[in-house]
Amino acid sequence: MSTELWYSERWEEGRSGISLKVLNVLHREQSPYQTIEIFETESFGTLMTLDGLVMVTDRDNFVYHEMMSHPALFSHPDPKRVLIIGGGDCGTLREVLKHPGVEHVDMVELDERVTRVAEIYFSQLCESNQDPRAHFHFTDGIQWVADARAGSYDVIMVDSTDPVGPAAGLFATEFYQNCLRALGNRGVLVGQSESPLFNADLIRSIRARMREAGASDVATIHFPQCTYPSGWWSATLAGKGLNLADFREQAAQAKAFPTRYYNAALHRGALAMPEFLLG
Ligand code: SAM
Repeated sequence: MSTELWYSERWEEGRSGISLKVLNVLHREQSPYQTIEIFETESFGTLMTLDGLVMVTDRDNFVYHEMMSHPALFSHPDPKRVLIIGGGDCGTLREVLKHPGVEHVDMVELDERVTRVAEIYFSQLCESNQDPRAHFHFTDGIQWVADARAGSYDVIMVDSTDPVGPAAGLFATEFYQNCLRALGNRGVLVGQSESPLFNADLIRSIRARMREAGASDVATIHFPQCTYPSGWWSATLAGKGLNLADFREQAAQAKAFPTRYYNAALHRGALAMPEFLLG
């Protein structure tokens, strides 16, 4: 009889799934919002799941975190004030703080336990948490944006869980309207927008809702993410009074900080839409 332990996740929408060989179960708790589990896997390093869904692995999180942050920051002419909603593992925050011009980041995560657990098991992702520019608020991002002063942010990033439960409202037109109000002129909003292969209808409706909310331009970027459903993921950007194709390409080429995935050419390429997603 085999005593091997495997983490398996079924991707209902694609009638498929993923399995990772587990060496150890490191942590399991029920927070007020969700079940948080940490596994040591053989091939992907440490894995965090929320309610039985992969959020972060050591091995491939860099693609997601870099593509959630740098395209939006290089789309703004001079980003100083950034809001991150969700993103409790702090990987997006770390990338944002690589930009020397960023002066203030509000991290608004619903579940403080996600961040506390990440500090223990994903210390590299949390290495910038003590940066004086980072300000943590453990509360609901939907309400935070509704209460935000008009024009108070340059870039808003929605690094959320799937559009169910407390994250559902982060994909609604009213939320996008509040984000666009909270952004200054030439502001940029970006939200993770699920799998191009499994969730094309959702991506189309996110794009339509952002336009309905008043965005001057909308762009969906896509990138590989092998531990998320279908292995292919996306983020959708909305501009307020700017054209997302006109990002600061030269600044991205000359960036003075290291990345493992993001560069100016990948940014340009990721803006090209597959035929089936057009329309
Ligand atoms: N990279 C991940 C993905 O796409 O699967 C997302 C990771 S991040 C850990 C997602 C975070 O969003 C969770 O920690 C969750 O608590 C947070 N979240 C969900 N709804 C939220 C809300 N309404 N306000 C603030 N944070 C929220």
